[in-house]
Amino acid sequence: MNKLISLIQKTEFNHSLTKSEIIELFKNNECNGDLFKAADRVRKKYVGDEVHLRGLIEFSNICKRNCMYCGLRRDNKNIKRYRILPNEIIKLAQKAVGYGYKTIVMQSGEDDYYTVDKLKYIISNIKKMDVAVTLSIGEKTFEEYKAFKEVGADRYLIRIETTDPALYAKMDPGMSYENRKRCLRDLKVLGYEVGTGCLIGLPDQSFESLANDILFFKDIDADMIGVGPFIPNEDTPLKNERGGDFLTSLKVMAITRLLMPNINIPATTAMETLNPRGRTIALESGANVVMPNVTEGVYRKLYALYPGKICTGDTPAHCKNCITGKIITIGRVISASKGFRVKA
Ligand code: SAH
Ligand code: SF4
Repeated sequence: MNKLISLIQKTEFNHSLTKSEIIELFKNNECNGDLFKAADRVRKKYVGDEVHLRGLIEFSNICKRNCMYCGLRRDNKNIKRYRILPNEIIKLAQKAVGYGYKTIVMQSGEDDYYTVDKLKYIISNIKKMDVAVTLSIGEKTFEEYKAFKEVGADRYLIRIETTDPALYAKMDPGMSYENRKRCLRDLKVLGYEVGTGCLIGLPDQSFESLANDILFFKDIDADMIGVGPFIPNEDTPLKNERGGDFLTSLKVMAITRLLMPNINIPATTAMETLNPRGRTIALESGANVVMPNVTEGVYRKLYALYPGKICTGDTPAHCKNCITGKIITIGRVISASKGFRVKA
């Protein structure tokens, strides 16, 4: 136990861990409190008390992919599909800006209805509102990523999901781990701020595999890391799996903060699905970003990646007030900036 505490203390200052050290931290739970406190101190020292809010628009739940874990997978015939049209997306972004958001995140399934021209139209119109734009729309070609960058897209989120190639092949049939990595490389080359992350608790995923994921995040120098528990969805082939747990997810997040002190780390919605105080706890264990939903009406419920998603009956205005209250209560402040990664 003393060995673990000195390991955490060392990492708080040199931001480096070996794979076997990370596995040790996973295996033992006696020093979790020390780990979370150390991650909180590193967060405060490097990125401060400001919490960046990103307004999330879930603009289409139509997807040509078939990821085993995801409720939006194309073989799921049990959900009603929707698409929000370009001008409506722009209106939602305008409202989000009205609520004070400085970043708009556009997320969807991989839906080819949104051609490069349509996306360029949407992005360039949102960019007129003086906000940062983040895309989370899956695997595209270098040329497509370049076209979005040229009209002003600032950031891109694409989780690697798992760095275990065999597990990846099982979880994401028809997709390739190599192509996912190619996407991350292309996005970096094009000058995006790149966000990635993994799912925690996939079937047969080991601590070693999670340790590799964390080392991968550091290796590619990601600007943002979003992790969350895998939550089994009734409408998918993984419906009978156990899924991820809150504690392991929190530990992956806290270790990531120790190793990557100046990046942005969201307190993810999936964390709050497993624990009613999940995002608050995450913000006190290394996180500095929250992505409240600004999608309206029925679409919120229909964007059903996993069951039990929080706040699906709420309005964007309610979510903004609610999360603001939570952040202020723990002595933190809402950032007024666009919240790019602070470079050392
Ligand atoms: N189609 C895009 C973006 C939407 S999916 C993409 O795949 O990149 C966004 C994220 O939802 C995925 O990266 C995945 O990690 C997460 N997700 C999907 N199904 C989930 C589940 N059952 N539990 C938790 N997270 C899930
Ligand atoms: Fe589609 Fe993304 Fe879900 Fe995979 S995770 S099925 S790409 S929405």
